[in-house]
Amino acid sequence: MKLRSGLTRWLQDEPQSRIRKRGVWPKREHCLKALRKHSAFAGFLCIAFAAVFLISFVNFREANAVDIGWHWDYSAGAPVVRNSTSSYSVQIASATSDFHNNTDMSVYSCPSHTNCGNVIHSQSSWGTQYPIAWALPFSGGSPCTDNKGQTIYTCDHGSNKPDWAAVRWNDSWGANSKPHFTARHEMSHVFGLAHRSCGDYSVMKPSLTCGGTYPATLTSFDENDLSIWY
Ligand SMILES: [Zn+2]
Repeated sequence: MKLRSGLTRWLQDEPQSRIRKRGVWPKREHCLKALRKHSAFAGFLCIAFAAVFLISFVNFREANAVDIGWHWDYSAGAPVVRNSTSSYSVQIASATSDFHNNTDMSVYSCPSHTNCGNVIHSQSSWGTQYPIAWALPFSGGSPCTDNKGQTIYTCDHGSNKPDWAAVRWNDSWGANSKPHFTARHEMSHVFGLAHRSCGDYSVMKPSLTCGGTYPATLTSFDENDLSIWY
């Protein structure tokens, strides 16, 4: 979420921008009403207050985002997602649309099983020494994680942002019971989100053993975190 574009959208004619969903803050109608009823000065004060509120709100949300230590390298191109799994094409396509439509990111899909894309989902029996699914991002050919998805602190927000990633679905644990959640979870790692706590209603719950409800779409936590960064 870019502050300037957010303010511009708010002041222009886009009645329900995503910012409006994130919290309670002065509505445009209130400012227009103040402007009409009282004076230009009252309207100005109202708009100024809204701007200050927006700045503090963005900062507050930024403090809450759980940063894995890198962001996707848009200078190398937007994420383009390829499904090379045999079981999870629906969930991967749905996750891709979810990121594209519900965050400030642009994320695209390849046609199935073609040689395109830079976020490649594959499926195999890698063995139970590996997780049920994991993300393997790379920056300029150097991995950001070990081959089980553990961060190894080689990628960052500067010159070592990831520009390519594998997402691996491991059949050795049987069929994935929460594939919508898993697709979003692993791609969020690629885009820079770390785990939240089990109690958070987020696709970044740390494991499939948390219990409780697993969201099958990005939640407001996830959308806010990613929209602040992109
Ligand atoms: Zn994870």
